[in-house]
Amino acid sequence: KLDAKILRYMTSDEFRVLTAVEMGSKNHELVPLSLIAQIAALRHGNSHKIIGELAKKNLVSKIKNAKYEGYRLTYGGYDYLALKTFVKRGSVYSVGNQIGVGKESDVYIVADESENQLVLKIHRLGRVSFRAIKSKRDYLQKRKSASWIYMSRLAATKEYAFMKVLYDNGFPVPQPIDQVRHCVVMELIDAYPLRQITEVKDPGKLYSDLMNLIVRLAQYGLIHGDFNEFNILVKDNGDPILIDFPQMVSISHPNAEWYFNRDIECIRTYFRKRYNYESMLYPKFQLDVNR
Ligand code: ADP
Repeated sequence: KLDAKILRYMTSDEFRVLTAVEMGSKNHELVPLSLIAQIAALRHGNSHKIIGELAKKNLVSKIKNAKYEGYRLTYGGYDYLALKTFVKRGSVYSVGNQIGVGKESDVYIVADESENQLVLKIHRLGRVSFRAIKSKRDYLQKRKSASWIYMSRLAATKEYAFMKVLYDNGFPVPQPIDQVRHCVVMELIDAYPLRQITEVKDPGKLYSDLMNLIVRLAQYGLIHGDFNEFNILVKDNGDPILIDFPQMVSISHPNAEWYFNRDIECIRTYFRKRYNYESMLYPKFQLDVNR
């Protein structure tokens, strides 16, 4: 969980040491204390004391492998560094309630300096599920991997880049605001996921809006790849907003037509099962996209 309180209780030396761990992580799975001390360039012995405090606050963890002992950032430490940057830039001022827990992300309501409400999405890839932990040894083995930092940062960078391109080209996605490390700040959409909407006022209109959206995306060169009821918010006026696109593929992908059809089928199936709505009309890749 995101601990906003911790933000207030960090000294500048602690921040220096935490940053040193992050820098050391770029080429060390486990960052040795000697390297941390060298990067942080604090008075001798201080780094040692401070790293202990950071470990107590769960911002780093001390890990021993076969060869040596060292430190790694935890998600808590990485969250802290990202938030600190957002705060410095003015894009986030305070953190509010958590509104979403995905398998691969946590979503919070935040506010900027002018008290505008926004959404903070923290990517959490490579999170070890409880089911995956068979034994304590297994757990220690899994903890060794530092690739979650890389994977989560990559996911956030990609999401922000796609969101920006889509938003700038008039597609219905949240306005992207800022991105740092594994986090994206975006516009808060006042709407619920399609999944949670038991009764749609005009299923026919929503259905054709969604089909048109899939076609427009494809004509622009993109296929969503995971177009489903969880990734679509529906506003009060019935307009859909796409919020999540982790597996977008290019229209020039060899299997583009297959992905395209799968997105179409996913919506058709959902409307049939959930709203008892079926239409004879649906887009065809060859006719509507590959003209
Ligand atoms: P995940 O990929 O982990 O499922 P999502 O991006 O789909 O994460 O977001 C999870 C939930 O958070 C969504 O179901 C939605 O309820 C909420 N949410 C995400 N982004 C926004 C947003 N911009 N505005 C409003 N709610 C959002």
